[in-house]
Formats: sequence, structure tokens, C-alpha cells
Amino acid sequence: MTGDAKLCSAAEPELVQGMAHQNPSEETDQGKETTRLATRLQHLSLSAQTIHADDFLNSHQAVAPPMHVSTTFRYSDNPEELSPWHNPNPANVHDSHVYSRESAPNSARMEAILTSILRGPALTYSSGLAAFHAMLVYLNPKRIAIGGGYHGCHGVIALLAKLTGLKQVDLDCDDSELGPGDVLHVETPLNPFGTSRNLAFYAEKARRVGAYLTVDATFAPPPLQDPFAFGADLVMHSGTKYFGGHSDMLCGVVAVAPRHAAKMSQPLKEERLVLGSNLGNFEGWLGIRSLRTLEVRVQKQARDAERLVAWLAAEAGKKESVVSKVVAEVTHSSLQTEDLEGGDASWLRRQMPNGFNPVFAFLTHDEVQAKTLPSKLQLFHHATSLGGVESLIEWRHMSDSMCSTRLLRVSVGLEGWEDLKADLEQAFEELAKGK
Ligand SMILES: *Cc1c(COP(=O)(O)O)cnc(C)c1O
Repeated sequence: MTGDAKLCSAAEPELVQGMAHQNPSEETDQGKETTRLATRLQHLSLSAQTIHADDFLNSHQAVAPPMHVSTTFRYSDNPEELSPWHNPNPANVHDSHVYSRESAPNSARMEAILTSILRGPALTYSSGLAAFHAMLVYLNPKRIAIGGGYHGCHGVIALLAKLTGLKQVDLDCDDSELGPGDVLHVETPLNPFGTSRNLAFYAEKARRVGAYLTVDATFAPPPLQDPFAFGADLVMHSGTKYFGGHSDMLCGVVAVAPRHAAKMSQPLKEERLVLGSNLGNFEGWLGIRSLRTLEVRVQKQARDAERLVAWLAAEAGKKESVVSKVVAEVTHSSLQTEDLEGGDASWLRRQMPNGFNPVFAFLTHDEVQAKTLPSKLQLFHHATSLGGVESLIEWRHMSDSMCSTRLLRVSVGLEGWEDLKADLEQAFEELAKGK
């Protein structure tokens, strides 16, 4: 590669020396060191980080990361060097593993990139829900304040309610309903509408009552939103969506705010070792490959979604437009002029300075239109999920029975907004003709 050789030096001699004398009780120091190495490119662009933040874990001359499928790793031949859960790799002390339920090369490199771009130590899990589950198992709150949003997270809460008596209260509950150690969980932007919530507002509420603010930021990965900058304590993502980006891998991510790193990072990792909900080796490898292009994908998806939304919203308001025969209302962060509490939404530009979420929704005039429209489209697959290179549309009632039967959720892919617009336009014409 060209450029600063320091960016990709696998072995920094003084660190190698220092780590060699480590014992297992200094695990946290090792975690700290990994975080330091993963975050030292944070002054660079998002793409520079996603392409190089894992270079220090590269133990080979190969430019592209190898796929490691091994579940287990050889110990040293030297009996003097044997120490429980400490297994330095002679080729690269940072790329050191024992058993893949604890850590593995592919997911460790993916975590290094995520730690850099999310700006806090990040762990990967087998799915977004596994990450949400692990986060709540770790925090073990008595109460969780949560609004609408991704239905699966409510399923995890129901499970924990069965096990621990966890009580659910409304996100906008009175302060007196929450106490120290409880959790305020904010999903923003919000499924399925693609509208946003004011993180600073909820961070303040969490501080007042001594609760943790956890944020499901799946709909707005970097560079769109940084929840830590607005007071989040922990941030989770369904990495199945934008981090994976190609509709071919399940993944979950939990990142810890730097101020909690020393306290939370290692226990979360130790609990994952017991939960066993680790990211698979293949997914770790796919995830690295996907993250390399995160910025270009998400920027284009966000820009194209905003253009489509602007077009749809404008046309829906014109009586003579074919769009208005089908579309009754469009919901998206870019259309938000007030927040969900009725205040003005000037916070939104501050919270999402680099563009809005690439997912939006619209309501049709009736259920038949919503059910039929997907079948008239060529460039949108009718399927659940989001965040991939392929544009998707979903009659959302299919996967969330609580959702309006008039709602279609759209995930904008990379086809290009003019082609997507033309596809939607011809589908609206088909539907209007059929009436
Ligand atoms: C998809 C999704 C999840 C769940 O993630 P999985 O990877 O499917 O387990 C959680 N939250 C949001 C907002 C999602 O879109």
C-alpha cells in the first residue's frame, strides 16, 4: 500500500514487549490498548477509517483480509509462556486469540473498524436482537422506557420481563416512573416511519433520573448520526442493515461511550463469552468487506432518499399529479418541521448534519393500493429489511401486524434516484389506471 506505513504496521516493538509480560488480570489493559490502536485514525475521513482502522490486526502481507474459519488457536510450544486466556500470537501480539466464542480474527478486525467509526469500544453479535439482548442483560434494569419502533426489540423485552420482572414504561413517561440504573431506550430514526427523535432531549431526561440512555441507531449509521455526541451511554445497531449493506449477513453491534469504556467494555465481552451470541467467522469477513464502502454507500443512499422523498411529498400535494392518486402522506426526517413533542426541529440538523436516513415510509389512500403497489415495481424488491444496495419496499403489515395496512416502508438502495423515481411513477400510473 502507499501512504503512511505506520497506519498498517502490525507489530509496534515496544507494545509487543510490554504485552508479553501481561497476566490475565490485566485483560482490561489489553482491551484499552486495542481501543487506543483502533481509534488512532479518528482524525481521518470515515472511509480512511473503514479502510485502515483494522490494519494493526493484519498479520500477513496480503492486502485483502484472509477469512479465518478456525474456532480454536494453538498455544505456545514454550511451557513458560502458558497463562490462562492469554495466548500471544508471535506474528502479531494484537491479533491474539484462544477460542472463537471469546474472540476471532475476522470479527476482531470488524470490531476495530466499528470502534473507530462509532467512537467507542464496539462488540459484534450474531444479530441486532442478540446485541439488544446482550445490552439489556448487562445493564439489567428494573424498568425500561421505550416508545414504538422495531417490534423485535419489544419481543426481547417480553422475554426479559418473564425472566427478571423487567417493567416497561412509556418513553415519554413522568420522571418519577424511572430510577437510577433503569434504561431509556431511544430508536432514532424510528421504524417504520423514518422520522427522528431528539437525542439531547432524552439524554437530559436520562441524566435527571439516573438512567442509562441506550440508542438503536440502525437507521442512521455513520456518517449520518453520532449518538455519543448527544449523550448516549450505549449505542446498538442491527449490522444486518447498513454495516452489512448487501442483504447477505446477520450482525449486531453494541458500542460503549468512551466515558464508560473502562467499566463496561470488558464485562460486556465476558458476558458475550457466556451468552455465545457471537458474530460468525464468515459474517465477520463479509462485514469488513462491507464496511470498506460504508461511507460511499450511505451517503448516496441518504442523498437519493431525500430527493425521492422531496419529489413524493411535493407531488402528493398536487391534485393533478398521479402520485396524489396513491400517496396520502410521506414520513421522513427531512420533512420533519417539529419534533414528536411538538417543539421545533432545529436540533435535527445538528443531530444529522451529513444527511438523513435512507429509509422512509408513505401511506396510501387505502389498503388495496398498499398491497398492490409493490407488484407493479421493477427496481424495488418486495421484501422486509433495509440498508442493502438493493432498494426494497415492504407492505409493512406483513412483518409487523401492529402497523397500518396503508403503510409502505421504503429502503433506498444504490440504483440511482432518477431510475427509482421513474419506476415509482409508472407503478402509480398503473395503479391509477386500474381504479
Ligand atoms: C432490523 C432491526 C433490528 C433487529 O436486527 P436483526 O439484525 O434483524 O436482529 C433492530 N432494530 C432495528 C431498528 C432494526 O431495523
